[in-house]
Amino acid sequence: SYMLHSFSVFLDDLIIGKGLLLRDITKEAEIDTLKDNLISLTSHEFKTPITNIRGSVETLLREDVEWDPDFERELLVGVHEDIERIQHLVSDWMDISKIESGTMFIERNMVRGDQIIEKSIQQIPKELQNQLEITFQNKLAEPVYFYGDKIRIQQVLLNLMMNAIRYNDQVIKKIAVTLDQSATDIIISVKDNGIGIEEDHLEKIFTRFYQVDVTGTRRTGGTGLGLSICKGIMEAHHGKITVESERGKGSTFTLFFPLGEEGV
Ligand code: ADP
Repeated sequence: SYMLHSFSVFLDDLIIGKGLLLRDITKEAEIDTLKDNLISLTSHEFKTPITNIRGSVETLLREDVEWDPDFERELLVGVHEDIERIQHLVSDWMDISKIESGTMFIERNMVRGDQIIEKSIQQIPKELQNQLEITFQNKLAEPVYFYGDKIRIQQVLLNLMMNAIRYNDQVIKKIAVTLDQSATDIIISVKDNGIGIEEDHLEKIFTRFYQVDVTGTRRTGGTGLGLSICKGIMEAHHGKITVESERGKGSTFTLFFPLGEEGV
């Protein structure tokens, strides 16, 4: 069977290519497509930060000029950002290949629901805090514990919260995190007041490289890999991730961790 994909290739914030891909969704073809996509997309995405770093370092190394310390600092801040961007790409790439090869191994930590949420909230970069109103509602009277990989779960939660901030036009970006429990699952949801997602796109946002890509809504040089990694991590926990959204109203992403999964 076949699947139609639309994709865009970005260089910084410029769309430098757009395409439709008719994809044979047999496993082998999928891996080939994945590799092609990774190579073509990431080589573009690597190029810009590396070029920037090189330019800045060459400037700083010039012996014939005395640079203003403020200017030097500005260049170093840029270099730091570019290095972070490259690290992000590399770790996304490694996560995808682990998911793809079935070697996304999950640590069996005893996770306390409210604590993992609070820790993840603390990881939101400080410079974003002033435009953010984040609430955590714990619907459970007693502390709840489940087995899972602390680092990976924090990665998923931080990713959802960063998306909630990124795809949000409001002056004050609101995120409401809730912790709840059903007969079968621990349920964590992340709700935002952001731009929302049209129904046509909802199913597809968990697909690798898929970006809704409405002109003007693209904030950062994302890769379209984040949610597919979240999905892979949730599946490795024998759990799942779902989304509800309405364009212009906001989105809610929900994580389900099965209870009583001693063997995860
Ligand atoms: P990236 O953010 O790198 O583009 P993701 O896999 O994290 O990749 O997300 C895929 C797409 O889903 C995004 O490009 C965006 O269009 C859409 N999306 C994700 N989270 C949200 C959100 N909270 N609100 C609106 N759109 C979102």
